[in-house]
Amino acid sequence: MKILIKNTLIITMDKDNEIIDKGYVLIKDKKIVKVDSGEYEGKLEEVKVIDGNNYCVMPGLINCHTHASMTLLRGVGEGLPLMRWLKEKIWPMEAKFTEKHIRIGTEIACLEMFRSGTTTFNDMYFMEQYVLDVVRNYGMRAVLGLSIIGDKWEEQIKQTIDLIDIIDNDKSGLMKVMFAPHSPYTLNYDALKQVGQLAKEYKKDIHIHISETKDEVNIIKDKYNKTTCELLLDTGIFNSKVVGAHCIHLTDSDINIMKENNVSAVYNPQSNMKLASGMARIVEMNETGINVCIGTDGTSSNNNLNMFEEMETGALLQKLKYNDATKLDGKTMLKMATINGAKALGIEKVGMLKEGYKADMIMVNLNKPNMVPNNDIYSNLVFSANGSEVEYVIVDGNIIMEKGEFTRIDEEKVLFECNNISKTLI
Ligand SMILES: [Zn+2]
Repeated sequence: MKILIKNTLIITMDKDNEIIDKGYVLIKDKKIVKVDSGEYEGKLEEVKVIDGNNYCVMPGLINCHTHASMTLLRGVGEGLPLMRWLKEKIWPMEAKFTEKHIRIGTEIACLEMFRSGTTTFNDMYFMEQYVLDVVRNYGMRAVLGLSIIGDKWEEQIKQTIDLIDIIDNDKSGLMKVMFAPHSPYTLNYDALKQVGQLAKEYKKDIHIHISETKDEVNIIKDKYNKTTCELLLDTGIFNSKVVGAHCIHLTDSDINIMKENNVSAVYNPQSNMKLASGMARIVEMNETGINVCIGTDGTSSNNNLNMFEEMETGALLQKLKYNDATKLDGKTMLKMATINGAKALGIEKVGMLKEGYKADMIMVNLNKPNMVPNNDIYSNLVFSANGSEVEYVIVDGNIIMEKGEFTRIDEEKVLFECNNISKTLI
């Protein structure tokens, strides 16, 4: 099938051909076949035409750290610091989760992500086989990681290997797997070491929380007399490609270790602010050449999955931290939420609108009071938009949302079921 988006402003994120004021994007099957200015001159038979006047088309956003099914716990345990929040509220409720909770939690998360322009997410949670089902049915792109945490790590490693077997044989091509050891402080040394070895053996990347709180850093220091990054280097975790969430309480030497080992850092500003975990040194990491991307974390510490909000908060927080208004402009933030995200997750040909790239994109309605006038599109997208302007979503060449309506998902049904299941859980 061919789709032509015409008469539109194109944010390509491609440095050779950055912004096209009036042009078109032509999609054939799963790929972008042409991005150009002016009018499309080819035949229009059997082409679905979308008029992009008053919209901009841009790459779909990439949420590099989340726990999708946890959306079912939105608003639970408000106002507690991380360790109390996990131990007193989150972990006991998660222990009650069954297949239906994982499914509905993921469904509501995917709807929210689509509506706010996310086309790819990097997940870490339990029972990922059901997350996989939802992702495949909804046609979203995702990286799935089964949480390896606590005493049951051997069993969880086996489940990860089963998941690898399923996803490596999945024909949709929308998903990949990462090993997801929860963090250095929730796993013992042997578990970390074994994950490091298996990730190498299976040639899979690793998704892990790194130095989210000061407490965590102190636990590792007391136990091993090392920093978190020194421990991860020592256990072999950094022998594979790693996506590290949070990366807040790092020493200069930790930052160097991350750079030398090609670790991508995920910036989760809203979660870090909400749980008062701290401020990551994003500007220094960017300057060192670390690949920094953006994530929302789970909804119960955010409380949403909105990457537009995350880009804005992330930029504002760093300006304040460094007392410097020139840091992290709109374009830098958008790059982190697209190109850098694709790089962190190792998904090729995503994150830009370019010929030969995968057809993952969104269309943002610019004819809204908060988007007019358009003096600087990057700034408008990051600092003025709130995500509700997203009206079209295309993933892998499939139209998921058109004129603000889902094409193949019964949104009302999901909202109704999610409310019902949530009541029984609380
Ligand atoms: Zn997290």
